[in-house]
Amino acid sequence: MTRLITDVAEAAGLLRDGALVAFATETVYGLGADARNARAVAAIFEAKGRPHFNPLISHFDSAEAAFAEVVADPRAALLARHFWPGPLTLVLPRRPESRIDLLAGAGLDTLAIRVPSHPQARDLLRRAGIPIAAPSANRSGEVSPTTAAHVLAGLSGRIAAVLEGGACDVGVESTVLDLSSPTGAVLLRPGGVTAAAIETLIGPIGRPIPASAAAATRTLRSPGLMLSHYAPRLPVRLDATTVGGEEALLAFGPAPLPGAGAVWNLSPSGDMAEAAARLFAGLRWLDAEGARLGLTAIAAMPIPATGLGEAIGDRLARAAAPRE
Ligand code: AMP
Ligand code: MG
Repeated sequence: MTRLITDVAEAAGLLRDGALVAFATETVYGLGADARNARAVAAIFEAKGRPHFNPLISHFDSAEAAFAEVVADPRAALLARHFWPGPLTLVLPRRPESRIDLLAGAGLDTLAIRVPSHPQARDLLRRAGIPIAAPSANRSGEVSPTTAAHVLAGLSGRIAAVLEGGACDVGVESTVLDLSSPTGAVLLRPGGVTAAAIETLIGPIGRPIPASAAAATRTLRSPGLMLSHYAPRLPVRLDATTVGGEEALLAFGPAPLPGAGAVWNLSPSGDMAEAAARLFAGLRWLDAEGARLGLTAIAAMPIPATGLGEAIGDRLARAAAPRE
């Protein structure tokens, strides 16, 4: 049962306990979870029914808290001074010691951060005292919600609560600006803060590739080079039914294949949310262990394509795709 609640302290407590709570921001309603908690982040993808993992924006109550997770630079500091709190998301290199869960960043080395301006969202973030990962609070493929009723229409029964916060003012999502390269800033998504306003502060920024050109780029370029794509260094072999001692095994379920040189079990009990929560950490660990032990490949056991299994399978297929 999803509850419609009005008490911000209660919502903050639920988030700290690892539950999913939708809340209003100045852009759209976000589906919030503790960004440090892998299971809570996996639950976001489960509730939204996304067939793939994409990186989520982490929300903070201050620029100081946000910049503690990333390597900021003068451009980021300047933009934060002008537009935070507000509808601007900055993508920056992740600090090695960042507490944000790998799944929240879809395994990337960058993190998307934002300080929202909505008074209730700020109050919630302050009371929760933790970074909150929050994509738009809609089922995958549906439009972003701007009222609590919209959220309930899509997600009722799938999340713990919706914090009643009235109608959102902006109604479009935050502008997403990629500052992860020191040489050029790139507008990844137009939104509440205009590109022109950003350019008056930091000079010309690269524009998003038009959708058709982006689609062409995706088919032409190796998936290993795609933005949202962390590729292990070792080749990945899918649907393994046997494994050799020279291979690392990404296992799933109670009966991991015997004989591998290294094993990471995504979920011994076959729990899909646990598997999603452990996926990126597992790929990185197997890659590092494989390099240390001189292994030749990562063999991945089959994962049923039910629930989050579809997104896990999508991610593994990308990791296994041939590279340039
Ligand atoms: P939503 O969660 O619906 O607000 O969408 C989040 C947006 O932020 C998507 O367009 C993501 O691709 C983008 N995003 C989040 N994190 C990153 C990142 N590390 N690098 C690039 N884009 C990101
Ligand atoms: Mg969305």
